[in-house]
Amino acid sequence: MDLLKKVKDAGIIGAGGAGFPTHVKLNTKVKYFIVNALECEPLLQSDKYLMRNHSDEIVGATEIIGKSLGAEKIVIGLKNVYYNEIDALTNSIKKLNSSVELFLNRSFYPAGDEQILVYEVTGKTIAPGAIPSTVGAVVSNVGTVFNVFEALKDEPVTYKYVTVVGEVASPAIVKVPIGTKVTECIEKCGGATLGDYVVIMGGPMMGKKISKEEAENTVITKTNGGIIVIPKDHYVAARERLTIEEMVHRAKAACEQCRYCTELCPRYQIGHPLHPHKIMRTMALGRNDEEVLKEAIMCCQCGVCEMYACPNGLSPRRINGYVKAQFGAKGIKWKNKTDVFTGDPQREFRKVPTGMLITRLGMNKYKGQPYKENEELVPAQVSVPLKQGIGAPSTAVVKVGDVVKKGQMIGAIDEGKMGTNVHASIDGTVVEVNENVVIKAI
Ligand code: SF4
Ligand code: SF4
Repeated sequence: MDLLKKVKDAGIIGAGGAGFPTHVKLNTKVKYFIVNALECEPLLQSDKYLMRNHSDEIVGATEIIGKSLGAEKIVIGLKNVYYNEIDALTNSIKKLNSSVELFLNRSFYPAGDEQILVYEVTGKTIAPGAIPSTVGAVVSNVGTVFNVFEALKDEPVTYKYVTVVGEVASPAIVKVPIGTKVTECIEKCGGATLGDYVVIMGGPMMGKKISKEEAENTVITKTNGGIIVIPKDHYVAARERLTIEEMVHRAKAACEQCRYCTELCPRYQIGHPLHPHKIMRTMALGRNDEEVLKEAIMCCQCGVCEMYACPNGLSPRRINGYVKAQFGAKGIKWKNKTDVFTGDPQREFRKVPTGMLITRLGMNKYKGQPYKENEELVPAQVSVPLKQGIGAPSTAVVKVGDVVKKGQMIGAIDEGKMGTNVHASIDGTVVEVNENVVIKAI
């Protein structure tokens, strides 16, 4: 069995992050294979659903991938409060007589950040800008691992389990074909309970916030796992609407250089030379100190500084994002001056508890919301993007009028290019081909 070929053919990309092609990531040999099942963004439930309902498949595929990587240690990382999921995986490990181990972590944010998870499991800091294999590790999201199990049966990626919560009549985890409109997912859950709203695509900390109108034209891709509907004037949505000028102005007036943003920054805590309080000071004073500002390139945009640490409601994350984009436009990258990175000895006491974070976000109302499972959406039409995740778009291999079957390839990635193959997510007729392939159900 050629695992990498099956993974590539099935169009698998990272299910929980930026969408890096999995066949490229798995084409290496490492000491550790780590499955990221932390699902650390508040309110999301899809990964836990997978672990409860598909534990045999996850343990089985984890072992196969780990062995193909030559890993000596194969672990599934999850939180120690995921009691049902721990039981399900433990039973599967016993049943399959598997060498997979569970790595149980505290419930803090961002426990599922790849760099943080690798630090927890291996005790090693990945240098800023580097990837886990530089310290002998490969990390895959649990949803990606489930997709590998499907690929071993020659089933390509055609659907996602999406958590739909917040201001909807009937929250649920819904099985959704790729290319389905976000608004259809909301309708499937009884519709929004508000006239106007904002949709968070993903989790409240790092998910993109889009308007009701934008949601009409947004579709589920291979990397979407969550839809959270919140009021338009919710704190989390309002923060996102501040302009860079407003943020700098507020920093000038209110940044007291308390350093909380730095001390609670997860990347600073593992030894990266990232000091958001210095960047804030430099921006507020209007100084062009490139040495300080360049640190923003290391920011992963986790949002701890902005939504949790800062006592004055300032936005280091947004300012870092702005500064990072300016350097990106000039082609300037971060260069490490050392290969020694020492974690903060106070780190254990400075982790952000998930429950406290939800309170700070003003989302207690949605915590513990009852939700339905085993819901499935059957759309009349899908619009499947030819570009999914990092890399080049695939090239359409179908034309208007073609009749396609679910799982049939509709976009192929050119040989030698980084990207992913794309497949029809429903049976139907191709009615449009542009950046997306639009398929109308038969
Ligand atoms: S968003 Fe803030 S807390 Fe997160 S990595 Fe960037 S500077 Fe650190
Ligand atoms: S936490 Fe807020 S007030 Fe304190 S240094 Fe950072 S930006 Fe300034």
